[in-house]
Amino acid sequence: MAEAIGHGDTLYVQKGPPTLAEMSGPDVQEALKHSDVVLIPFGAIEDHGAHLPLGTDCMEAREICRRTAVRLAELDCPVVIAPVIPFGTSSFHLGFPGTISISSHTLVTLTKEVCLSLYRGGFRSFVFIHGHDGNLASMMVAAQEVVDATLDATAVVLNWMVALSKVYHTIQISKKGESHGGEGETARILVTHPELVHPERGIPYHLQPEVLRKIQSPEHMKTGGGIYYGVRSYKDLTPYGHIGDPTLALADTGEKGYAVIVDWLSSVIKRDFFDERGSRV
Ligand SMILES: [Zn+2]
Repeated sequence: MAEAIGHGDTLYVQKGPPTLAEMSGPDVQEALKHSDVVLIPFGAIEDHGAHLPLGTDCMEAREICRRTAVRLAELDCPVVIAPVIPFGTSSFHLGFPGTISISSHTLVTLTKEVCLSLYRGGFRSFVFIHGHDGNLASMMVAAQEVVDATLDATAVVLNWMVALSKVYHTIQISKKGESHGGEGETARILVTHPELVHPERGIPYHLQPEVLRKIQSPEHMKTGGGIYYGVRSYKDLTPYGHIGDPTLALADTGEKGYAVIVDWLSSVIKRDFFDERGSRV
């Protein structure tokens, strides 16, 4: 059971490698001698139920990029990690207090300006990685705008949910529909930020299949299907803010999920930014 966190307590421990925010200018200059690839994690500040922090998506995006960068370094494909973009398009969670949502237009503009700043410094390859699938549409628009605004930049959006959803039934305990703030997401935060997870507050809450299908199913665009429904309000879907059974979450399940995600991301980045195009510098 997580205790209340007081002033002066350590909130959590963050492992390296550092992101740009923790590097010095000369550190970046040195890194650019070896690679012009930067991973940009996209997070959100949005309700995930009583058992998870609002920054869950930021934490996941940071950890996914961190583990992917470590794997790529082992493969002799070095990359730099940008700071997490903390705000996303989370309008449908605004019924829950603490949620912060920016418009898709703002997210596109913010992303473009972040990338063009990094471009000025020498980065040419921008890899967008989400912790919140609600950002995906804006990320795709931003990727195109970054490419349009430059002569030689590459920008790609990598949606790991497609890879994970194909095998998730083999690593999760639940046999029901797990979604936002459910078993899988809680398990991933248990890996990195157990101090911030409150399992004792977790309440199993599942949607009827015909309702869940519209936000999470193999048919959904975010997991490789061809259907996308706009979402009005999570408050209408779930009184608790999450969907699924967080009480089933185990750190081991989270580790297995991260392994699938990192295998896929690192193989695509290696292939598209290192093998096929040779050294990017
Ligand atoms: Zn989330």
